[in-house]
Amino acid sequence: MEDCIFCKIVAGTIPSVKIYENDKVFAFADINPILEGHSLIIPKIHAENLWEIPDDYLKEIHPASKTIARAMLKTLNCSGIACLQLNGRSVNQVVMHYHFHLIPRKEADPELSMTKWDLIPGDMNKIKQIAEAIAGAI
Ligand code: 5GP
Ligand code: ZN
Repeated sequence: MEDCIFCKIVAGTIPSVKIYENDKVFAFADINPILEGHSLIIPKIHAENLWEIPDDYLKEIHPASKTIARAMLKTLNCSGIACLQLNGRSVNQVVMHYHFHLIPRKEADPELSMTKWDLIPGDMNKIKQIAEAIAGAI
């Protein structure tokens, strides 16, 4: 897609710091790292989000994340890696080309707010009703 910054990264018309690629995916360093080593994996075709990315590209994302995660564990001395993937403006997706974040964290690094939330029990009737509605739409 002409105006997409990540399509331009795949095409090599704007620079990136490459970490990994295969015929379906490309991985590179995020230029605004939340923590050291923050990386992104993207499909090599333009697809905006989880419900638009073709399955043959989607199924390459998680194995690539495993390959990169193992390399992060070997090189960065991190003790955990957060995987994050945002879909849509209302959850703050900024670049509208599917991307999967890998955010390695060392023990001494600041807490990642998106990985820590309070567990507040929900209303089981409501939980069941919503889950059944989703299941029914599959
Ligand atoms: P989102 O909120 O859409 O999940 O995150 C988009 C991510 O893309 C951000 O973490 C941002 O730093 C990163 N990003 C945006 N533009 C560029 C760019 O031109 N190059 C690289 N390497 N990362 C980018
Ligand atoms: Zn794109």
